Amino acid sequence: MSFEEYKGVFVFAQQVDGVINNVAFELTSEATKLAAALNTEVTAVLLGSDVKGLADELAVYGADRVVVVDDPALKTYTTEPYAHAMDEVIKNYKPDIVLYGATAIGRDLAPRVSARVSTGLTADCTILEIAEYKNALGNVNKGYEGQLFLNATRPAFGGNLMATIVCPNNKPQMATVRPGVMQKIEPKTGAKANVEELKVEFAKNNKYVEVLEVVKAVKDKVDISEANILVSGGRGVGSAENFKLLEDLADAIGGQVSASRACVDAGWVPKDIQVGQTGKTVRPNVYFAIGISGAIQHAAGMEESDIIIAINKDESAPIFSIADYGVVGDLNKIVPLLTDAIKNA
Ligand code: FAD
Repeated sequence: MSFEEYKGVFVFAQQVDGVINNVAFELTSEATKLAAALNTEVTAVLLGSDVKGLADELAVYGADRVVVVDDPALKTYTTEPYAHAMDEVIKNYKPDIVLYGATAIGRDLAPRVSARVSTGLTADCTILEIAEYKNALGNVNKGYEGQLFLNATRPAFGGNLMATIVCPNNKPQMATVRPGVMQKIEPKTGAKANVEELKVEFAKNNKYVEVLEVVKAVKDKVDISEANILVSGGRGVGSAENFKLLEDLADAIGGQVSASRACVDAGWVPKDIQVGQTGKTVRPNVYFAIGISGAIQHAAGMEESDIIIAINKDESAPIFSIADYGVVGDLNKIVPLLTDAIKNA
């Protein structure tokens, strides 16, 4: 099968209420590296209603071109119209690679699109590379010599091994990437996007669901994946009530509280502050790991933090092997002392 007409690295640029999700900028940034390896361009795909004005923001983070589908049918995200619009973009432009953020929207949209265009999808990738299609022995598979593919790597079997997945016989090659995993490039201030509008017709069967009302959760805190300082608690904190110690520290230092899965499973804290493989990937400037053992599934979500400070009563806890600073001792004593010291400083 010849795929020569499939060209370019495309990124689904998720926006909600006219605000582009940070993961879109992370992906256009990462796409610049993939595109350079393939000697091609980065295209962002912007779907929505009245969104054309956002295109330049994507150029600032590496998009050479922005394909816009602007239609009232795309005002609020629903699966059918968005999947239909992406399907049309792919059929018209024939991209080689399409990337999506592994957000709630990206995770809903990407599999639908992959089924429509009869291609594969590698979910929750942490590494993307352009390389040959090799077998387990490291040899290029027969019939694929001299060809380059998207090698998408993701944790498998509870994070105990990394699986590299290649989709050699279908185009486009598609992957979702979790927010916070890829790093943004230096912004190209003042960059202007080359915008192309694609007109898509929406029929009744592209709109099975009608959104009657959008009720937003009231949030007074920043999303943990956007926070600069995280004060993260584990099972060692002992109870929901004891998380007050961490909240006091977070307030004193201007941070946010997050947690390990053990605390979420125990019902002490909500799921949206869980860090790790099945929670969120975070990359704050400072990450306090308090009463957290440092299991591989937790580390997978926070080990890229700039500075990791661990407080744990067990000096052999694995968290100390990835921490920049460590305090061995009882968190119930250390955390209040630390909070007071910060308040007094
Ligand atoms: P523990 O491992 O029980 O560690 C508690 C720590 O607190 C210990 O090191 C102990 O020494 C210390 N401690 C206890 N009392 C005190 C005290 N008074 N003072 C100081 N230190 C104290 N986990 C995640 O966090 N995020 C994920 O996304 C995630 N995804 C998973 C996905 C899969 C498929 C699987 C199988 C597991 C996943 N896990 C995840 C669970 C993970 O394997 C661990 O079980 C979990 O991270 C442990 O949480 P913890 O470190 O809080 O608890």
